[in-house]
Amino acid sequence: MSERVIPLVDQRVASLPAHVPAKPIPTTGLLGDALGRPLRDLRISVTDRCNFRCSYCMPKDVFDKDYPYLPHSALLTFEEITRLARLFAAHGVRKLRLTGGEPLLRKNIEILIEQLAGLRTVDGLPLDLTLTTNGSLLTRKARALKAAGLHRVTVSLDGLDDAVFRRMNDVDFPVADVLEGIEAAREAGLGPIKVNMVVKRGTNEHEIVRMARHFKGSGIVLRFIEYMDVGATNGWRMDEVMPSAEVVAMIHRELPLVQLDPAAPGETAERWGYADGTGEIGVISSVTQAFCRDCNRARLSTEGKLYLCLFASQGHDLRTLLRSGATDQDIASAIGAIWQGREDRYSELRASLPPDDGQGVRRVEMSYIGG
Ligand code: SAM
Ligand code: SF4
Ligand code: SF4
Repeated sequence: MSERVIPLVDQRVASLPAHVPAKPIPTTGLLGDALGRPLRDLRISVTDRCNFRCSYCMPKDVFDKDYPYLPHSALLTFEEITRLARLFAAHGVRKLRLTGGEPLLRKNIEILIEQLAGLRTVDGLPLDLTLTTNGSLLTRKARALKAAGLHRVTVSLDGLDDAVFRRMNDVDFPVADVLEGIEAAREAGLGPIKVNMVVKRGTNEHEIVRMARHFKGSGIVLRFIEYMDVGATNGWRMDEVMPSAEVVAMIHRELPLVQLDPAAPGETAERWGYADGTGEIGVISSVTQAFCRDCNRARLSTEGKLYLCLFASQGHDLRTLLRSGATDQDIASAIGAIWQGREDRYSELRASLPPDDGQGVRRVEMSYIGG
């Protein structure tokens, strides 16, 4: 049994201000951070609540009935989210991903999707509009999401064995319902669909080959994610991380693989194709192979804080600026200045950093800023 650290400080309270710089920063779409990385991808968390209690993300003993979720007034409204997304697009963002918590729990999410679907990149193209979900509500919502303008979904699924799956989501949710949700998404045209499996050694590694066989030839891209040390509540231990290289070797022994070229610069997944041409898998090696050099992602929390890294301990408070009556130019300049100052590269530095022992600066939770 690993020791669980209960957070003593609510990290959501701590935040950095978002200042409007004296000199406006033009929205040319060419913004670069301090390490020359562009801003291309914005992940928007629309709720901090979830109907699952995955032990690696929202362990039950911390996220219990007394957990202080954000009140509704603290959340960005759909209009505020859309306004920010438009300004991020003007700085070069091409892809929006809605996440959470469980994004499909946010009431009327279809209305937000409709608003976001109307946005354009600096080149006048629609933004790539996608959503990460645990799949539990997809059967009910897939068609409405598609009709609202969502392009595709990524579904998280950690195994096919019903007992393993029920244990991992820790609310006894049956795997059959998620599989049905994936099918509903496919029928609604929310593809290409990706399925993400977090691999935790000692918990679900025996599901790896079974998952690969299940999705091989289906047109769905299965991606294996290394269990990460995000947040401060999941009791992460390095010996529970299964390196992607081992995942690839394990599958390759049964279903031969060949390495493929990356789909796009900044793409976090390494691609492997089945040698018989029946599709591909991806591996995301956030722990064993840092990809910070190409990281072009920003994250917007449910209450409007801008995080520059998944492992950041503080976000920049855009909500106060939004609600102060600031102009679009002011907000765009503030975003520009924050991005220009970005030096974050946690995964590259992980090995040389002291462990998060619960006493120092706390990292923000995954369920709060989204994956
Ligand atoms: N609830 C939605 C879901 O599960 O897809 C969206 C939010 S969830 C925080 C986004 C992704 O983060 C999921 O694919 C989840 O498996 C992943 N995730 C959460 N905690 C993780 C951890 N400690 N290591 C690796 N991935 C993690
Ligand atoms: Fe919920 Fe997603 Fe976190 Fe699981 S990974 S607890 S489904 S937010
Ligand atoms: Fe990006 Fe931070 Fe992850 Fe590095 S550790 S890839 S900078 S989010």
